[in-house]
Amino acid sequence: MNAQEIIQKAIPEANNDLCEYILWAMTPFPCGAVSPRSLFKAADRLKRANANGRRLCDFCNNEVHGDDWTCPSCTRALSQ
Ligand SMILES: [Zn+2]
Repeated sequence: MNAQEIIQKAIPEANNDLCEYILWAMTPFPCGAVSPRSLFKAADRLKRANANGRRLCDFCNNEVHGDDWTCPSCTRALSQ
């Protein structure tokens, strides 16, 4: 089972672009090991966030409030 097939277990309609986003932005890939379980959990987290109208931080995937794309912790770290 490849990465796309694992992601599609959580998000059946996931196209190639979404699969690449989840793999590159929501897992340690390509610097660290990615288990099938962590890949599925990342896809499921994004699916649940979208279903509930929530947004995830572009850097750490924590929930973001308001119209920002980064959470308060990442915003602070990026501004230093
Ligand atoms: Zn963050």
